Amino acid sequence: MIEKRQFYINGAWVDPIAATDCNVIDPSTEEPCAVISLGSQADVDKAVAAAKAAFPAWMAKPVEDRIALVEKLLEIYKRRGAEMGEAMSMEMGAPIDMANTQQVGAGTWHISNFLKAAKNFDFIRPLGDHAPDDRIIYEPIGVCALITPWNWPMNQVTLKVIAAAIAGCTMVLKPSEESPLDAMLFAEFMDEAGFPKGVFNLINGDGIGAGTALTGHKDVDMVSFTGSTRAGIAISKNAADTVKRVHLELGGKGANIIFADADDKAVKRGVLHMMNNTGQSCNAPSRMLVQKGAYDMAVETAAEVANKVTVGSAHDSGRHIGPVVNEAQWNKIQGLIQKGIDEGARLVAGGLGRPEGLNKGFYVRPTVFADVNNDMTIAREEIFGPVLSIIPFDSEEEAIEIANDTDYGLTNYIQTQDGPKANRVARQLRSGMVEINGQSRGAGAPFGGMKHSGNGREGGVWGIEDFLEVKSVAGWT
Ligand code: NAD
Repeated sequence: MIEKRQFYINGAWVDPIAATDCNVIDPSTEEPCAVISLGSQADVDKAVAAAKAAFPAWMAKPVEDRIALVEKLLEIYKRRGAEMGEAMSMEMGAPIDMANTQQVGAGTWHISNFLKAAKNFDFIRPLGDHAPDDRIIYEPIGVCALITPWNWPMNQVTLKVIAAAIAGCTMVLKPSEESPLDAMLFAEFMDEAGFPKGVFNLINGDGIGAGTALTGHKDVDMVSFTGSTRAGIAISKNAADTVKRVHLELGGKGANIIFADADDKAVKRGVLHMMNNTGQSCNAPSRMLVQKGAYDMAVETAAEVANKVTVGSAHDSGRHIGPVVNEAQWNKIQGLIQKGIDEGARLVAGGLGRPEGLNKGFYVRPTVFADVNNDMTIAREEIFGPVLSIIPFDSEEEAIEIANDTDYGLTNYIQTQDGPKANRVARQLRSGMVEINGQSRGAGAPFGGMKHSGNGREGGVWGIEDFLEVKSVAGWT
């Protein structure tokens, strides 16, 4: 079993001051694969002190120097990507081929996009002709606590760490206790790239311990958090006493609106998108809203596609989906499938229990419910598993109403051949992102949500701005 008890603080791997051991469980086998430490307040204090001490010099560095270090990091990240894929596959169950391509690739993509955005970023801007002596100066916020989930681990880590570093912030990263190994590898990459000591620090821990210590810490200026809405609310409350800036990227319950003029390819794409990463994506299109004329076709196609999705070990090569992350999540998903049945939805694929032949490991059957009403529990709660709900609708207005009738507002999807209709609907959806006919976000596009899906935006220019203060200076240009 891998032993990784140390934290990365002030440019060195150090023993914890007062930590407890925690096993990392391989969800494909249900066996422990690693042991890590869960840090305490004392460990957090040490990491924050290192970040605070490093801040003045890091902030004063020309941005070109910071960019040069990120370029070096990108080269290392690409070179050692396979190690990263293996770690993710073992700790959070992404099948190895998918881990090496999509999961590791997301990190490469974000680092590259930030480099492009940084090279064109103006840190000092004139206010405008009406105030010729005034300028706006963008300055780093300071010490940042970066708290990440396990589902797209390197996606989240790179979105936060690289943006913060380019902005001139120093940081303490606390990755999910479910996926600490890839983040520790990332710390090795940061070390190899030669970031000055104290700029980047990593501490492992859970939400109650290290997470709470970080988000309430008086010397932390900003919390950037990605995870559940439940934890996001707790973090906002805990950060309020010290008036921190809190950036939240939270859950989702995306609608995929299939208009009657869409074809079966659009349905197939929607199902596969839903099942990708075993349904464990904040932007999963988990509610498929289908217009009456296409309804029977969509239900039949969705069931057929879901029945063909294969499930297997994350260690095996291939295009299957892996297990869900842990036993608690497996139990929660089973409970929600049961609720779907009890509340009267029509099960057309999958269902309760494990797929045939998979008796150990947190495997879930790719599941599709038809005739779902938007008030049912499966349409309201973020399931975070391979479970799709199909909801019928009549008119464009009704589709918009159902899509917006949720606490969440992260990503919605539209499938239609009618361009003006797609544009019209996109404007009325209350979500941070809308994707039409399978078009995914371009390089450097902002990622983030409205309502209970959070605030702030990550990626590209918007991601860098999130870690900056705006200072207005008048006179003496
Ligand atoms: P989680 O909220 O349980 O944990 C996320 C992180 O927060 C972990 O590092 C955890 O240790 C920490 N944490 C938990 N409670 C905390 C607290 N009270 N104080 C401080 N830290 C705390 O979420 P998860 O299960 O790891 O991830 C799944 C969730 O993340 C889903 O809801 C998903 O939609 C969301 N997510 C959102 C985005 C986005 O960009 N909007 C992206 C990925 C995942």
